[in-house]
Amino acid sequence: MRSSKKVLLVFLPSESGVDGARSLYDEREITPLFSWFNRSLRTIIKKSQFAIPPLSLMILTSIDVPGVEQSICDMRFEEFPFNDTWDLVGISVQTGMARKAFDLADKLRTAGIPVVLGGAHVTLFTESCRPHADVLVVGEADDLWKELLTDLTIQTLKPLYQSSAFPDLGISRPVSKKTLVKNRYFTTNLIQTGRGCQYSCDFCNVHLLNGHTLRRRAVADVVSEVKRFLQHDQRIFFFVDDSINADPVYARELFSQLVPLKIRWFGQATTTLGQQHELLETFANSGCQALLVGIESIETTSRNAHKKNQNKAEELVRAIKNIRNAGISLYGSFIYGLDGDTLETPAAILEFISQTKLDVPGINILRPIPGTQVFERLREEGRLLFNPHDVTAYRYSFGQEMLYKPKNIPLDSFIESYSILTRQVFTMKNAMTRGVAAPRAKSAVMLFNLFYTHLYSLSRHDLQHQLEKNSLKKPFCLTPNNF
Ligand code: SF4
Repeated sequence: MRSSKKVLLVFLPSESGVDGARSLYDEREITPLFSWFNRSLRTIIKKSQFAIPPLSLMILTSIDVPGVEQSICDMRFEEFPFNDTWDLVGISVQTGMARKAFDLADKLRTAGIPVVLGGAHVTLFTESCRPHADVLVVGEADDLWKELLTDLTIQTLKPLYQSSAFPDLGISRPVSKKTLVKNRYFTTNLIQTGRGCQYSCDFCNVHLLNGHTLRRRAVADVVSEVKRFLQHDQRIFFFVDDSINADPVYARELFSQLVPLKIRWFGQATTTLGQQHELLETFANSGCQALLVGIESIETTSRNAHKKNQNKAEELVRAIKNIRNAGISLYGSFIYGLDGDTLETPAAILEFISQTKLDVPGINILRPIPGTQVFERLREEGRLLFNPHDVTAYRYSFGQEMLYKPKNIPLDSFIESYSILTRQVFTMKNAMTRGVAAPRAKSAVMLFNLFYTHLYSLSRHDLQHQLEKNSLKKPFCLTPNNF
């Protein structure tokens, strides 16, 4: 008889994007050549190790409870191990992939395996998850997971684990990588220094899920984690915080202490960094290679309409130039289709990219994530294209599906203008030029641009398919089956 309880935590691949370039449509519906190209590229992507490990599952499997053995199944690389015996399976659920998570959960429960669901979707839409789970975990699970695993050992699992307060990140909780298969990933050095965001961009759910107050880990705790991780994996570090410069005093202290370790790192920041001169210098000295910044919009009316207030539109160019001049490459993420955008916006984005020499531009379509303020507003204004009562219809894709009607631009013109824009931004020639011109991480910049050249061709293909097949000119399509 087994003495310990076996727990498996499952990470599901997204439908498309960096987990693999897939069309949203049945591959039989696309041309054989396109389909073959997609499949080949998916294999290359898998081998290129773009993937990073699921940090939330790393954190949970680092929690030791006597009598419990935990492991991770990353379904980007492996099938679910149905032939093994599991005492509990946990699935992390994101709204854009909730249907897939529920399908797996239903299958497991039919086979008699208890399922616990957690993650952003469960936190925001708890009751709709109830029919698919034995146990739900609502909110950040750091403290709840220990209680749940202890209950598992004494067979007193409760149907719901929810806490009234966010976990105190000041308490040291060392993250272990023992459950990861190291060589599957681009790096296993993922570090989170804090959670929460003081801003309220209406398309974002970070402040809803993690609160408006920044909670930080102790600097010494993070530094010792970096040292420990380095012994196991010498590759690049990825600081996954949504905004690594949100607390400049903290960030300066932390990265000053990391300088002697001579690591190389990527992270995510706001463009405000361009005005935080001392911090910018500290980032560059501590080995920062590249940052992802959310530019979102260069139109003042759009920034105001969506509460994107960290920087004024006219400050963006200078801020981006300052960051690049400090020797840090930039991935700049735009959203086209915001409420102040017009058919003039694509030309302005093109001009902005050329002026700032952004190393990797990311041009997204607004994705109204269920639960966010923008989703509610679009619902009230009758601008959502799928049934708002079935939030699982709002699946994740890489600019491949319209989920709403833009305010000032008819749908067909929007799709046409978006397609022209991505075709102009992402070409083989531009990919090479950007790679050569990047201040650092040149080959990663080139690779990303090449990869995006294909992903955006997939976006154009799928949007055209949606337009032709489903007559998006209709004001509403209230069932996903209409598509
Ligand atoms: S988009 Fe970035 S800055 Fe805005 S609320 Fe989300 S995490 Fe904060």
